[in-house]
Amino acid sequence: MSTKVVILGAGFGGLELSAMLSESGADFEVTLIDRNDAFVFGFSKLDLLFGRTTADTVRHSYADFSMPGVTFRQESVTAIDPENRVVTTSDSSYEADALVIALGADYDLDATPGLAEFGNEFYSVPGAERLSRMIPEFTEGHAVIGICGAPFKCPPAPSECSLMLHDNLVERGVRDGCQITLINPLPSPVPPSPEMSAALCQEFEKRGIELISGGRIQALDGDRGVLLEDGSEIPFDIFFGVPRHRAPDVVIDSGLTEDGFIPVDSHTLEARLPGVYAVGDVVTAGVPKAGVFSEGAARIVAGNLIAGQGQGEAPGPYLGRGNCYIEFGEGKVSRVDIDFLSGPQRTGVFNEPSLALAEEKVEFGRSRQARWFGT
Ligand SMILES: Cc1cc2nc3c(=O)[nH]c(=O)nc-3n(C[C@H](O)[C@H](O)[C@H](O)COP(=O)(O)OP(=O)(O)OC[C@H]3O[C@@H](n4cnc5c(N)ncnc54)[C@H](O)[C@@H]3O)c2cc1C
Repeated sequence: MSTKVVILGAGFGGLELSAMLSESGADFEVTLIDRNDAFVFGFSKLDLLFGRTTADTVRHSYADFSMPGVTFRQESVTAIDPENRVVTTSDSSYEADALVIALGADYDLDATPGLAEFGNEFYSVPGAERLSRMIPEFTEGHAVIGICGAPFKCPPAPSECSLMLHDNLVERGVRDGCQITLINPLPSPVPPSPEMSAALCQEFEKRGIELISGGRIQALDGDRGVLLEDGSEIPFDIFFGVPRHRAPDVVIDSGLTEDGFIPVDSHTLEARLPGVYAVGDVVTAGVPKAGVFSEGAARIVAGNLIAGQGQGEAPGPYLGRGNCYIEFGEGKVSRVDIDFLSGPQRTGVFNEPSLALAEEKVEFGRSRQARWFGT
């Protein structure tokens, strides 16, 4: 008998899960729901920020989405009833045998007073576009890159932003009149990889970028600048913010969250009710919030659903492994190979920045684009 799978969210997790179920040829009836009309890779926001590309170029339209056995619906999820596995959307309602929540994390600008008024964020497409129009006007003064709270997506992204901003200012011949400060609530740039953190700190030092580790941003003030919990004040002329993250309201209203996100069995991605799974940024920390981990988690859910249809072996536990690419400026990219769950300790192996890894990162995006959109 056909298994009805309803996937909420067509991001990294939802797209990979759909692809695997579709490819399996098993008897699934898959509905994939997203409120947007296009997917954008997280890292494309850095390219947008620094004018390397345009919003039209980085949008992968769901109109191009075509996977046998998967129906895409552009609708907003308005209610989730996990007990009965029923989902209500702006247009309809859906009953599922297996319900997979892959709705990602939302940004909570109001959680940081003054952020919307005096600062800017670069974690959304409109935010990155807005800042990209401001950067050419910034020719002297203090640029502050500030993370307003953890957990946040792609822990290296604010470091990448700092290095790329340095390059941008150098290219425009205005670096000498500008100061760059990165405020990070974490103890180091990429805590799972001390080697990567050390390499980034070395780059910051070389380029005169100040790093404030363990800095907790309380608010932004129009006159006083960034207000930190320890009482210090950091004036700025331009602010690149990473807003606080939280699960989308519809997920919180479903009653599935604890401490803001959905707790799951870290090996199977099952939430606390039978037939209900959650993957990616919407899940309580266990692995970093990054696309590569959403994708890896989705593969485990898909593998178990496929095995449940009598096809193939169950995939074994989710091991929290993934490779993250990190822009080091000057066109070079490094890679950290992360393993969060398979051993007694999480590890992050650092690979030196190179042009070859920059090409590998491009291929990472290209291969997903081809697999999910056929383009
Ligand atoms: C600047 C930046 C750089 C990054 N760089 C990298 C990188 O190099 N490598 C990497 O692996 N990750 C990177 N990331 C992180 C990555 O983008 C996310 O971690 C990843 O997209 C999470 O995947 P997901 O499937 O959990 O959620 P998402 O990909 O965010 O997908 C969630 C989907 O749910 C939809 N949705 C939400 N609410 C509703 C609703 N109510 N109704 C209908 N649809 C809804 C959204 O429209 C969205 O399409 C970066 C992120 C940023 C911001």
